[in-house]
Amino acid sequence: MSTVETTYAGSFIAGAQHRNAGDPLEVVNPADGRPFAEVATATEADVDAAVQAAHQAQHTWSELAVSKRGEILGRAAHHVEEHLDELIPLLTREQGKTLRDSRIEIAKAIDTLMHYVGLSKSLRGAHTPNLDPGVEGYVLRRPIGVVGAIVPWNFPTTLLCNKLAPALVAGNTVVAKPAATTPLTTLRFAELLAEGGLPEGVFNVVTGRGSVAGEALVTHPLVRKIAFTGSTPVGERIMAQCAHGVKRVTLELGGSDPMIICDDADLAAAASAASMGRFYNCGQACLAIKRVYVFESVADEVIQSIAAKASRLKVGRGDAGGTQMGPMHTNAQRSEVAGQVSQSVGAGGELLTGGTAPDDPELTDGFFYSPTVVVDPPHDSAMATEEVFGPALPIWRVADLDEAIARANASQFGLGSSVWTRDLARAREAARRIEAGYTWINSRTKVYDELPFGGWKSSGYGKEHGEEAFDFYTETKSVVLGAS
Ligand code: NDP
Repeated sequence: MSTVETTYAGSFIAGAQHRNAGDPLEVVNPADGRPFAEVATATEADVDAAVQAAHQAQHTWSELAVSKRGEILGRAAHHVEEHLDELIPLLTREQGKTLRDSRIEIAKAIDTLMHYVGLSKSLRGAHTPNLDPGVEGYVLRRPIGVVGAIVPWNFPTTLLCNKLAPALVAGNTVVAKPAATTPLTTLRFAELLAEGGLPEGVFNVVTGRGSVAGEALVTHPLVRKIAFTGSTPVGERIMAQCAHGVKRVTLELGGSDPMIICDDADLAAAASAASMGRFYNCGQACLAIKRVYVFESVADEVIQSIAAKASRLKVGRGDAGGTQMGPMHTNAQRSEVAGQVSQSVGAGGELLTGGTAPDDPELTDGFFYSPTVVVDPPHDSAMATEEVFGPALPIWRVADLDEAIARANASQFGLGSSVWTRDLARAREAARRIEAGYTWINSRTKVYDELPFGGWKSSGYGKEHGEEAFDFYTETKSVVLGAS
């Protein structure tokens, strides 16, 4: 007999709750390790029902005027916004992040929906008037069809909306699979969009395990595109599976973003950006400052400042007042980061702060890990070569910009990066030479809907955000109009 407070049917298909046929999975509160809900998992047949619903809805949805699709999505997004106060604590409870971070996340998700609603009024295509005498050509954009959106647990709503917004405005329909550990906010989000007027079947959710529901979505013949955010190994597997049938694919994968702090930088601002960029969301973000390279001559000042900020952060339950950093999402995630830190310190890195769970007895049952700073671990240690998906920051002293850029690029990843300097020539050189999809100059690592975002190297394929996202949710066709 289950002791959880609530049990959920598990999927949202064709505008209604759908009881999955699979076994139930518990949803655990990371702040105290206690399960509080149970969600039935989707089987292959449940995923098929969702894909069929999306397929059925797609023709009618795609035949609406693009501005009409935008108008419907905008109204539905507004309805979600009216329920922010319900969604915020739910996200904190299942994910662990602070209430403030939940508010920022969901507000950003709604902003992204509204950004693409706005673009729906200005989408234009190319036209070439004189291909030959009297012959003109234009480029037609058509939706791809049913899109499968596979989303991880670190930002369940923003990472969903990065896919949902351009996909729906472009005329596709969507079946989303949230992470097995964070299904609840996504299910409620879908319900609210439907209450707000999104037609049935246009957006569906299946919950459950990646190995069952995720795979069934990726391999379903009616799913024509997969948009995935998560780890690089799973992304590689999905890319290989999408080769069958030449499915379209967008991959937002792991990162190990370098930050370069030059000797002429505003050091106080750079240290604040490093602390915010590493410890925000308990360090569990794809775009986050994961390696700092600081010029030798200013290193001591910068290192001390970052370590002091880290040790002052108030760690606690996400739903407690004053908390600046919540728990990690799972115990497994915490063990992984703890292992990376102890390997790197064992190999010679200097541990300045953190490196353990906090000693507050109120936090012993949750998955807490103290903000951690390690200086000069070997360049082949885990913190240098792997993605550290938690609140632990390695810092290295470097001689100059050349060394900093060489170290920054010595990584399989190429997602974000940042450089701090008052010298414009240095800043431009770094922006040109760093191998990454984003470079911030004297700016904290914030993603803008206006600019395309996507990783180089093992960090991904394709773009989200920006008008460019539409290129990844449409097929184009060249049409030639003859003279007669
Ligand atoms: P995963 O890549 O395993 O999971 C991301 C999503 O993919 C989840 O919804 C997951 O479902 C699903 N999934 C898993 N396996 C498959 C599959 N075979 N086919 C289809 N879908 C699948 O990430 P994790 O959550 O396990 O995190 C592991 C590591 O990945 C982290 O430590 C971090 O390094 C990195 N990561 C990076 C992220 C980023 O934003 N760059 C985000 C999340 C993780 P389920 O939850 O059921 O496993």
